[in-house]
Amino acid sequence: MTMLNFVGLSLVVLLSAVGAAAVERVEYDYYKYHPMPEISKWMSQMQTDYPDVVRIVEYGKTYERRTISLLKIGQETGEKKKAIWMDCGIHAREWIAPAFCQYFVREILKTYKTDPKMQQMMKNMDFYVTPVLNIDGYIYSWDTERLWRKNRSPGPAGCNCSGTDLNRNFDANWGTIGVSNYCCSNIYCGTEPVSEPEAQAVTYFVGSRKEDFLCFLTIHSYGQLLLVPYGHPNFTAPNYNELMDVGLAAADAIRKVHGKNYTVGTSPDVLYANSGSSRDWARMSGIPLAYTFELRDNGTFGFKLPEDQIQPTCEEAYSGALHIITYAHDKTFNGAVATAVATLWTMLLAVGVTGSSLM
Ligand SMILES: [Zn+2]
Repeated sequence: MTMLNFVGLSLVVLLSAVGAAAVERVEYDYYKYHPMPEISKWMSQMQTDYPDVVRIVEYGKTYERRTISLLKIGQETGEKKKAIWMDCGIHAREWIAPAFCQYFVREILKTYKTDPKMQQMMKNMDFYVTPVLNIDGYIYSWDTERLWRKNRSPGPAGCNCSGTDLNRNFDANWGTIGVSNYCCSNIYCGTEPVSEPEAQAVTYFVGSRKEDFLCFLTIHSYGQLLLVPYGHPNFTAPNYNELMDVGLAAADAIRKVHGKNYTVGTSPDVLYANSGSSRDWARMSGIPLAYTFELRDNGTFGFKLPEDQIQPTCEEAYSGALHIITYAHDKTFNGAVATAVATLWTMLLAVGVTGSSLM
């Protein structure tokens, strides 16, 4: 065969190979619930697709020895950066929560290339997003018991039930209110503060760099609430007014998307008193803006929120979360001024006035 034919044939082979690969690469469906192996695969795919800004960080093991990991998202600047924490799936049955974390990651990655504000936030801060914290429980809720809530560690000697409520296990007024010491209870708080490996992982990871975190968002369902510290009625956060103001503005942002009302307040004021939550621990550790999101709905479907509500739930919650995150960012980095500068710079670039022509 002539050289030209060979090149032509190779090109055809190459093109069909590219075509096949493109067909095989199925778009990830953010509006379905995904079992754990698919979520893990998705995390790797995010790192592959956005190698400059996404890195998988492993930071603990579950009771059943599965690796707990998060996506660290931000631009490498060489500077020490501030940080935003978000975890989903601390309660196994709240499937909308992991779906939201994945949507959140997709949105910020989609936005940052074109939106100067997100670009600026990714330069100043890293986003630490854990799509599923209670991995053992999440898998159990898929395989065995849809409404499982706790982790999967065995109960203490003499008790036949398993599982500790991870959101009662943190070192924040642990074991004092809104918990049970009976290991079969859904709000069993464990044998001591931070007895559970999943709570330990968050405590050590966040605790070791707590001065970096501006914001701690932990995502649950259901009830359409934004909960501020503290769960114990005898304690009030020093910045309670700020937490409420920012929370109420976030609820406004949520309402604007699909008209859903989110109630803002402390747990004892709008839900029930509790102790040992990760949100309270975060605030007590010095992280100023700590919130629990209770996503849709109000009880019609409860934990079994239909898949056709994933998209609207994520859209509105994204708007609320972004409000809190933007507030945290701007408070620290004087964002109004920086945005004006960024906008001016974009305009100068647009009219062709670049650095080299500015004397
Ligand atoms: Zn929950």
